[in-house]
Amino acid sequence: THRVVVIGAGHGGGNVVALLRQYGFGGPVTLIGDEPAAPYHRPPLSKAWLKGTASAQSLALKPADFYATQNITLRLGHAAEAIDRDTRRVALADGSSIDYDTLILATGAHARPLPLANTARPNVLTLRNMADADRLKHALGAGKRLLIVGGGYIGLECAASARALGADVVVVERAARLLERVASEPIAGFLRRHHERNGVRFALGAQIETIEGEEAASAVTLVDGRRFDCDAILVGIGAAPNTTLAEGAGLACDDGITVDADCRSSDPRIFAIGDVVRRPHPLYGRSLRLESVPSAMEQAKHAAAAIAGREPPHPEVPWFWSDQYDLKLQIAGLPFDADTVVVRGDPETGSFGVYHLRGGSVVTVEAINSPPDFFAGKKLIASGKTVAPVELADPAVPLNGIVA
Ligand code: FAD
Repeated sequence: THRVVVIGAGHGGGNVVALLRQYGFGGPVTLIGDEPAAPYHRPPLSKAWLKGTASAQSLALKPADFYATQNITLRLGHAAEAIDRDTRRVALADGSSIDYDTLILATGAHARPLPLANTARPNVLTLRNMADADRLKHALGAGKRLLIVGGGYIGLECAASARALGADVVVVERAARLLERVASEPIAGFLRRHHERNGVRFALGAQIETIEGEEAASAVTLVDGRRFDCDAILVGIGAAPNTTLAEGAGLACDDGITVDADCRSSDPRIFAIGDVVRRPHPLYGRSLRLESVPSAMEQAKHAAAAIAGREPPHPEVPWFWSDQYDLKLQIAGLPFDADTVVVRGDPETGSFGVYHLRGGSVVTVEAINSPPDFFAGKKLIASGKTVAPVELADPAVPLNGIVA
C-alpha cells in the first residue's frame, strides 16, 4: 500500500485529502494539524466570525463525519517537528511518528511580527487562526480603541468588523495609500472613503516609533509625532511562509517551498501546496507565491491529480475576494505590466469595475459589488481577446457583447 501523509490541516490540507479520495486514491491518508480543530474556513476570521455572525459549524470545511466516512485519519493538536527523508518518517511534537510514501506539506503562513522592540505584549495581536480571532474578538466591543498597523486586506477587514462591533478604529499604514501591493488606486481610494464614512481614521505614509504602556500597550507614537491611545493593537503587515520544517529537511526554498507545476518539491516524494509554496504559474510563466483560498485549492487539485495518476487539471485564472461592510471586492488576474486602466461604472454608486489591459487584452479585473464585471473580466483574461477601452468604459455597451 502507498501511504499519503499531509502536514497542515488548513485550506490546502483539508482539500487535498478530500480530492485524493475523489480522484480514486484508495491508500491510507493521514492529515496532521497543530490546531485543535479539523480544517475550517479562514477568511471569516476577519469577517463574519469576528463580528459574531457565523457559527462554528458554518466555519468547518467539511461535515464532522466526513473524515471517518472517507477513511481519512486526523491527527490534530500536535505539530509535525521533523521530516526524515531517508526513512520517510514524520516526527510529531507528542513524541510519536508517522511513516509516509508520499508527503504533502500544507503548512501555510504566519503573520509577520512588527519589526519593533517591546511588541511582546498581551494586547499586541496578529490574526491567522481561530485562537487569534477569539483573542481579537475579546479585545473589541463598544468604546474599545483598536489601533491597526497595516492597511492591507486583513487590516481593512478587521477595521470594518471592529466598527460593526462599536469599536473606535485607527489604521496606520506605512505606504502613501492603502492596499499598495494588492489593489489599484481607484479601488484603494474608494475603500478609504468608504471606511472614513464609517468612522475609521487613517494615518497614511506613517510609521510607528514606539509602543507605550507598562505591560499592556496603551498608546502608540508615530515617527511624525502623532500619538494614539489604544486598548489593543492588531498587526496586519503581511504573512511569511511556514518553511521551517521544509528547510530542516533540506528541501529547496526561496521565500516559500519551491515546487514544479505539479506542486512537487525538490524531493519527488514530497509535494507542497498553498501559502507556503512558490510555484511557476502556468498562465504567467513566472514563479509566484500566492496567498489565497482559490490558489490553495487549485494547487491541491494539481498535487492530488499527480499522486492519483490523473491528468493535470487545466490552469485557472487566479482570483481573490474581500468583504468589508456591505462591499464585496472580487479580483481576477494578476497586475503585471498593465498599460491601460479602464473604470466601468461610477464609483459613487458603490458598484463598478476596474479593468487593467496590456496590449489591448484584459490582464486583471477588480470589481466592487459588481459580479458581472468580475465574471466578464475573468473570461476576458482567460480568452486573451482584444477589447476596445472605450467600449469597456461605456456601461451602455453590454458586457456579454464585449466578452463574446
Ligand atoms: P492555512 O489555511 O493557513 O493552513 C495551514 C495549517 O497548517 C494551519 O492550521 C497551521 O497551523 C498548520 N501548520 C503549520 N505548521 C505546522 C506543523 N509543523 N505541523 C502541523 N500543522 C502545521 N483568502 C482569500 O482568498 N479570500 C479571503 O477573503 C481571505 N481572507 C483571509 C482572512 C484571514 C484572517 C486570513 C488569516 C487569511 C485569509 N485569506 C483569504 C487567505 C487564506 O486563508 C489562505 O490563503 C489559505 O488559508 C491558505 O491555505 P493553506 O492550506 O496554505 O494554509
